[in-house]
Amino acid sequence: MSLANLDKPEKIVLASGNAGKIKEIQAILGDYSIVPQQQFNIQEAEETGSTFIENAIIKARNAALHSNLPAIADDSGLVVDALNGAPGVISARYAGTQTSDQQNLQKLLDEMSDIPDEQRSARFVCVIVLLRHADDPLPLISQGVWEGRILNHAQGTNGFGYDPAFWVAAENCSSAELSAQQKNQLSHRGQALRQLAEFL
Ligand code: IMP
Repeated sequence: MSLANLDKPEKIVLASGNAGKIKEIQAILGDYSIVPQQQFNIQEAEETGSTFIENAIIKARNAALHSNLPAIADDSGLVVDALNGAPGVISARYAGTQTSDQQNLQKLLDEMSDIPDEQRSARFVCVIVLLRHADDPLPLISQGVWEGRILNHAQGTNGFGYDPAFWVAAENCSSAELSAQQKNQLSHRGQALRQLAEFL
């Protein structure tokens, strides 16, 4: 019996429709069949939590409840010290609902324009939650944290979201200048996914 207490092979519902995430999670959890929640016509849960962990649990619980299957959800974002942790849990809608990655990135660069170099520390955070069922009192929670700094201009075209503003000192480039493979080795999401695989 694994730590997750799931019999293999088993379906796990993923509380996301993002094709990239489905692929990444399926690649790590090869023994399980990862099914996106859309296949069960499950509506996205409202992310009302004030922490990444709360939001991931809300999303996983919603998926488990409506599918009667174990469920996985992730929540991620950028935490900037000089902005008291913003954009944090609202990273995807920092510049408002219905805004693009580009608008969120621009807002970040604007908010940081007067911040001196030594105060530009930040980190990407990813939390992944696995619930065996909707009432599971002991969710499996994995977490990845990727430390970096916020540039004062966008740099690079790979990745998404805030990648062009995130300086990765170890590679001497922005996160948007890393290949997908390099990013996966270092990133918050890669770390959290590998930790989840260890649990299972
Ligand atoms: P979610 O976890 O899909 O809700 O993502 C939250 C938001 O955090 C995304 O829309 C991006 O703005 C930001 N984000 C999360 N991970 C990354 C990353 O690896 N690169 C750039 N932005 C990210």
